[in-house]
Amino acid sequence: MTSSADFLDDFLTFTLADQRPDATSGTTASGVRWTWQGEGVLLLEPAQEPTHSVLVSAGIHGDETAPIEMLSSLVADIARGRAALAARVLVVLGNIGAMRAGDRYLDDDLNRLFSGRHARFEQSREAPRAGELERAALEFFAAAAHPKWHIDMHTAIRASVFEQFALLPHTGAPLARAMFDWLRDARLQAVLLHREKGNTFTHFTAQEAGALACTLELGKVRPFGQNDLARFAASDAALRRLIAGEANAEHAPLRVFTVVAQIDKQSEHFVLNVASDVPNFTAFAAGTELARDGEYRYRVSHDEERIVFPNPKVKPGLRAGLMVVDTTESTLASLD
Ligand SMILES: [Zn+2]
Repeated sequence: MTSSADFLDDFLTFTLADQRPDATSGTTASGVRWTWQGEGVLLLEPAQEPTHSVLVSAGIHGDETAPIEMLSSLVADIARGRAALAARVLVVLGNIGAMRAGDRYLDDDLNRLFSGRHARFEQSREAPRAGELERAALEFFAAAAHPKWHIDMHTAIRASVFEQFALLPHTGAPLARAMFDWLRDARLQAVLLHREKGNTFTHFTAQEAGALACTLELGKVRPFGQNDLARFAASDAALRRLIAGEANAEHAPLRVFTVVAQIDKQSEHFVLNVASDVPNFTAFAAGTELARDGEYRYRVSHDEERIVFPNPKVKPGLRAGLMVVDTTESTLASLD
């Protein structure tokens, strides 16, 4: 062990302070091999042959502090031998510039710039980071011949009928029971299934590297240092079991929702007919007009649809809300 590994005790503070380690790789007293791959990107490898690979990211949105703190604590525990490591783990703190500023992003939402979309945003301060994280993820997963996972941790600004929920990217690949079991272990209350390709980090790793990838929305947050991390204990424990290669036989119930429509903001005339602070997964009955924009109307066409991520303030051309329906029974019955 070298003294240069001390930064692992507080990877968050080290990263926010724009520091560099004395050496870019080393081995801790507990036998964990670490490689600092660049700002906010850290590879951790167990002493023994790894059984799987897990990319864990937080701070893709800079103001979503609690999962960032949770991940930094996990790094310290792995380095000190307090958290068991059976997997190769790539730790990613995403939008560091925005983290320093305490903002969601500086110029553009980093989680809309993956799968090459960053090339169309040359002036954006987020664009180079999206490219860096794509390369780091591909390099990490290219060296993995075993199960590949990507857990991308976020927090929501708005209230939600289901406080903690996950989103799974759509790649056309069958849904994996292992992922649903893990989401239940993490006590997520709901999972949202996308039906179209996206530009999120998890979509990129699922599509390009075949990772079992999920985006977690873990509830509301406060500024750094003011979070009650107990509220994130279940996902923290499940993440620790995942990297330790342990399974939990206890599985909490999980509701499944599938995206059936997207409300798009087409112009500045766009009007969303729901309160700006309506909780995620609020249900609306068939026939309800939820949005209008010139000639365009969005009306609920299923018996019941729920709205997720409503935001009338996005730039024209962007998504102003997702509509989902409950598919719990059919989805769980379809798993292998
Ligand atoms: Zn987020």
